[in-house]
Amino acid sequence: MTGASTRTIHADRDVNPTQAIAPPIYQTANFWADDLAAFAASAVETRGTSFYTRYGNPNHAQVAAVVAELEGTEAAMVTASGMAALTTAVLGLISSGDHVVGQVSTYGGTASVLQNLLPRLGVSTTMVDQTDTAAFARAITTNTKLVLLETPSNPLLQVTDLAAVAEIAHANGALVLADNTLATPITQRPAEFGADVVWHSATKYLNGHSDVSAGALAGSAELLDRIWDVGLLTGAVLGPIDAWLLLRGLRTLPIRVERHNANGMALAEALENPPAVAAVHYPGLASHPQHALATTQMSSFGGVLAIELVGGGEAAGAFLGRLTISRIAASLGGVGTLAVHPASMWRGMLSDEQIVEAGVPLGLVRIAAGLEDTADLLDDVIAAADAMDAR
Ligand SMILES: *Cc1c(COP(=O)(O)O)cnc(C)c1O
Repeated sequence: MTGASTRTIHADRDVNPTQAIAPPIYQTANFWADDLAAFAASAVETRGTSFYTRYGNPNHAQVAAVVAELEGTEAAMVTASGMAALTTAVLGLISSGDHVVGQVSTYGGTASVLQNLLPRLGVSTTMVDQTDTAAFARAITTNTKLVLLETPSNPLLQVTDLAAVAEIAHANGALVLADNTLATPITQRPAEFGADVVWHSATKYLNGHSDVSAGALAGSAELLDRIWDVGLLTGAVLGPIDAWLLLRGLRTLPIRVERHNANGMALAEALENPPAVAAVHYPGLASHPQHALATTQMSSFGGVLAIELVGGGEAAGAFLGRLTISRIAASLGGVGTLAVHPASMWRGMLSDEQIVEAGVPLGLVRIAAGLEDTADLLDDVIAAADAMDAR
């Protein structure tokens, strides 16, 4: 099994205890044992699947087998959401008094964990400009236990030099946790560049159909065991039906990502032309300041791009209002194209000041290209941008 599609379709065969082509949904909270010895053994089995669903369920193990295979890691686990994956991993790997380094441009929830949650637990944090590798070296102290990376970052599509930052972190005894949600393992495998744990909002591309909230973590068995121990206590367990749906969505990840990436590239290229668009942020464009770096760690450039409209927040609203195929909604990675105003989207998690500090301009619109026909998407988005000029 060498190709990504083949591996996605067959990697979980050994953890499907039946011969059903589509595995059953283990809609059960618990599992019975033959005798006390078997019961006692299953109670202490790490990442087992036959004790209690909060500890593990066959539907979890099937998704985990595919995710580990795709990310090229020894092990993986699933959680109830992407944020559950992050908080469980962070709580599993740090203690009060530790220091964590993150990025200025990062998913709003991650930014809030760094700025609002961790300081309350006695964990100090520093956020750095990810485009400046030396900034990570300056931020890391002898107390730094964890470096949180996200590349490309949401919503600005800035790129982190994974190998260089992992080397700096490891030289100082810190672990690297990388959010691979936007790239997916089809496009980028952070573990190959030294990331210790890779995490996903599986709500996005891994599931791919906007009908499940889920998260995933991939890394060495040793680190995942530490995280899993805390997952038992945070209890952010993925329901068996949602795990089953996630596996069904995951089966087509490689073929979907190919179309998402092609549509992302086509939209980014076309949006460089309309005068109403002041800037296009997309790592696949030669105009992206880190395009050369992106080509060294990504095989393609993803389905998400961001544009800055001339005229700020008001122009962003007018542009969004002119879209007819693309819909205004949070999230990304589903079959339909979604466009959002990031400065509005994260007000529930970050203060207005924190949003400004994250470098999110008021005129920024993030577009997550879906699987529609490229020509239709171009018509929709370019017509909206061109109409702006006519105002
Ligand atoms: C959506 C998202 C998350 C959060 O995941 P949820 O499944 O919504 O909890 C984390 N990181 C990135 C990059 C995201 O886009």
